[in-house]
Amino acid sequence: MKALRYHGERDIRYEDFEDASLTADTDVVVKMDLCAICGSDLHIYHGEGFSEDTGYCVGHEAVGTVEEVGKNVRRFRKGDPVMISAAVGCGNCPACFAGEIVKCHVSGFACYGLSHALQGCQAEAIRVPMGDFNLRAIPEGLDAEQALMLTDNLPTSHLGCQRADVTPGADVGIVGLGPIGLMGVEIVHVMGAGRVFALDLVPERRELAAKLGAIPVDPASATETIFEATRGKMLQSVVECVGADASLNLAIQLAGVRGTISSIGVNNNMAFPFPMALMLAKGLTFRMALCSVQSHWDELIPLVQSGRLHPEQFISHRMPLSQGAEAYRLFDAKEDGAMKMVFAP
Ligand SMILES: [Zn+2]
Ligand SMILES: [Zn+2]
Repeated sequence: MKALRYHGERDIRYEDFEDASLTADTDVVVKMDLCAICGSDLHIYHGEGFSEDTGYCVGHEAVGTVEEVGKNVRRFRKGDPVMISAAVGCGNCPACFAGEIVKCHVSGFACYGLSHALQGCQAEAIRVPMGDFNLRAIPEGLDAEQALMLTDNLPTSHLGCQRADVTPGADVGIVGLGPIGLMGVEIVHVMGAGRVFALDLVPERRELAAKLGAIPVDPASATETIFEATRGKMLQSVVECVGADASLNLAIQLAGVRGTISSIGVNNNMAFPFPMALMLAKGLTFRMALCSVQSHWDELIPLVQSGRLHPEQFISHRMPLSQGAEAYRLFDAKEDGAMKMVFAP
């Protein structure tokens, strides 16, 4: 089969790859219908991946059609349309039973496409371990693009917003307006936020947030702008969706007394200089986490079905998998309005 493989910094190739096949009775092989590039795939693209491997197949967001099931798979059969959770659990340990898939006692936090350990989704087919647990039939009323956004981005955005202690009427900040940040603008509105301040360096992205009802703010003058708008109270909740040192720092500056910062960006800096005295003086709560995707589905699916969340609106490009290298280049350079890049086989 064909797949996108990582060969080194800024070197993603569309190439032959070993066919996805069953290796356990609980596996499911899914033929890919749509897959996507995630912001976190850019760490790999920049040569700052999560393993020293090369030649592995990348990607962890996909929907598809069941092709083959192991003999202990009970919930799926050939031909079923399914969405694949980016978080991979064993489905059989106390953590998975509790919905804390990131704490899975067997797999730890496993994800596709980070090394040779678990083949990525940017391929014509993928093997899903513990298919009964890590797949869900595409819910009624959702199209494939909406389901694709439920495989990682929308649940991650939801996690970030949930952990930001948003209460009705609150002033909330969203730092970073890629797809996850923009989804967050919609989510915190659904949660009852009063004013939503939306920050990004790219003016076009701030305009998108404004169309969703947020107040666009240029990060360069954000501290003063928000100080004035809130009469010095600053923000009760800040959802930080970038993970860069500068954006984390900005989030800390923007939070008000007893405020909460919830970060879902990926930061590999082991020596981030936390402004401890400021955080102490303001009494801030700071949270970061990876997403147990499956645990968010029951809450999010009805919100997409009823049209209160529109995560598919952030798809900017639809391309064949064979143009993977170009898609990564565009996405990395934020060229051509690149926002969410989606591939079909
Ligand atoms: Zn992702
Ligand atoms: Zn488990």
